[in-house]
Amino acid sequence: MAIDKIILFPVDMSFIPESLAMEIVMDYTAEVLPNSEDIKTIIYKNIAFIEPGCALSKVTCMNCGADLLENGYWRNWMDALCDKGIVNPTMILPCCGLETYIDALNYEPPVGFSRYVLEITKPGKDLPEHHQISLEMFLKCRLRKILVRQPESPVKQPECRN
Ligand SMILES: [Zn+2]
Repeated sequence: MAIDKIILFPVDMSFIPESLAMEIVMDYTAEVLPNSEDIKTIIYKNIAFIEPGCALSKVTCMNCGADLLENGYWRNWMDALCDKGIVNPTMILPCCGLETYIDALNYEPPVGFSRYVLEITKPGKDLPEHHQISLEMFLKCRLRKILVRQPESPVKQPECRN
């Protein structure tokens, strides 16, 4: 499946790199993925939920494995956070009493939470690991990557002609 988008963001959800570093990273990315349709920097006012491009199938506690999507707990937590922007993303989990960050849960497919995002549209190929390491050096932070893949090519409907 072709890659629709590469989404890169800091492991530390509240981190925003220096503006010069963000510019360097835009140029660097354009050089190493020259066939990209679009490359953009997005900065959110609050920590934003980075969606995986398709429905979440699982959110589980990384300590006891409880399913937090099925029981509605995760949705309620997200609704509460989204009302005020995600500002206080820690919570004591109802399953095992662990206090944790919302981004530390296990997500399938992987999601993210961030204030800074580098989004590469139709890159033509994946970003090789060593280039990601260079980006991390420029930005002075570890990065997480989400690949959004295009769904299987949709069945073409026959056109109606009258
Ligand atoms: Zn638990």
